[in-house]
Amino acid sequence: MAFTLAPLPYAYDALEPYIDITTMQIHHDKHHQAYVDNLNKAIAGTPHENKSLEELVAAAGSISPAVRNNGGGHWNHDFFWNSLKKPGNTDAINAPSGKLADAINEAFGSFDTFKEKFANAGMTRFGSGWAWLIAKDGKLEITSTPNQDNPLMDVAEVKGTPLLGVDVWEHAYYLKYQNKRADYLSSIWHVINWDAVAARF
Ligand code: MN
Repeated sequence: MAFTLAPLPYAYDALEPYIDITTMQIHHDKHHQAYVDNLNKAIAGTPHENKSLEELVAAAGSISPAVRNNGGGHWNHDFFWNSLKKPGNTDAINAPSGKLADAINEAFGSFDTFKEKFANAGMTRFGSGWAWLIAKDGKLEITSTPNQDNPLMDVAEVKGTPLLGVDVWEHAYYLKYQNKRADYLSSIWHVINWDAVAARF
């Protein structure tokens, strides 16, 4: 059974002005579609055809680089689209609440420190990759992965349950932010869907 690309859970321009419509169109319709297509090609005619995406990702290190890269790419982008939402009407940055907010304060000291550390994880990931907030042994941690790896993979340096993932590939921000990954990472907080993150937590 082939994998398919789900439509974005909002309009292409929903994340404006923080993530522009052209970036979203290319990112979803071209990049994400390519991961889905190449994953399907990589598993066609193999015993992996009947596995779930989660099973493939968990065993990524022992299958093939094509499944690791494209299976990870498909999982990560689905997760990313569902981690974002249309910004509110004010410039205020939305923030987590309830138990998730408590856990963030406990793990990092404050929401501001969390944002700083998360952005730092994204900034210090050389080349292409992802910054993550994960739950590990009942505690929150920040980590990052190269390429399309993620913390569910057997090959991940730091494993855990992803709660939030932010794409730091240049294709995620270059049209609007050019080389300024830091500006993209400070803008992203306007469009994080904390309800989705809390539900995963
Ligand atoms: Mn991407």
